[in-house]
Amino acid sequence: MATYIVLLGPPGVGKGTQANRLSQQTGLAHISSGDLFRENIKNQTDLGKLAQTYMSKGDLVPDDVTIAMIKDRLRRPDCAAGAILDGFPRTPAQADALEAMLADFDGRVNVAPVISAPRNVLVERLSDRWTCRESGHIFNMKSNPPKVPGKCDLDGSELYQRDDDRADTVSKRIDIYMEQTTPLITYYRDHGKLVEINGLQSIEQVTQTLLDALKNKS
Ligand code: AMP
Repeated sequence: MATYIVLLGPPGVGKGTQANRLSQQTGLAHISSGDLFRENIKNQTDLGKLAQTYMSKGDLVPDDVTIAMIKDRLRRPDCAAGAILDGFPRTPAQADALEAMLADFDGRVNVAPVISAPRNVLVERLSDRWTCRESGHIFNMKSNPPKVPGKCDLDGSELYQRDDDRADTVSKRIDIYMEQTTPLITYYRDHGKLVEINGLQSIEQVTQTLLDALKNKS
């Protein structure tokens, strides 16, 4: 049976970094809804143009559009063994839709780790965050800097600061997480899938805790 991991947590807590590391260690596909939208924006697709109007303000893209995009992505062959979902689901409607999608593949969510950190830490991390334009790989100028300033360690591509990592938008994104996404913590706890993880630990410690959680819940 395929393995599906739903990574929960506010913007800036390290979901992208951890999803990348978990993907390398488990071989499961890393699906980031934010990266999929950004790819569509880069390619100026209709979906990208629509998503941009929401993302630039820090708002969520509507559920129907987001659900259709993820459904399409989960059908690709690299997800045959399962996937690590980073940034999806973000609303109860998306969580219900995910259950239905996985039931179609005869799968289920194995574990839903929620990584937490205080608001001031999130704001500081996001303002120091630089992202690779090509791979989406994430660096932090203070805690996890690239070897060559401004260049991705993986492929040497340019690093940039996301528009929505500006202080005013960051604050709104954290508020939206608190209002719309935290109900999922109860949802996955009630389903026996939730594992709470302290996001103030080192990157390596968080990865280890995630791997342990996966082993226990699989
Ligand atoms: P992220 O890269 O996960 O921080 O997402 C960046 C932005 O993409 C969010 O602020 C939303 O505008 C949009 N987005 C990403 N995932 C979702 C989702 N599951 N539902 C709605 N909007 C999303």
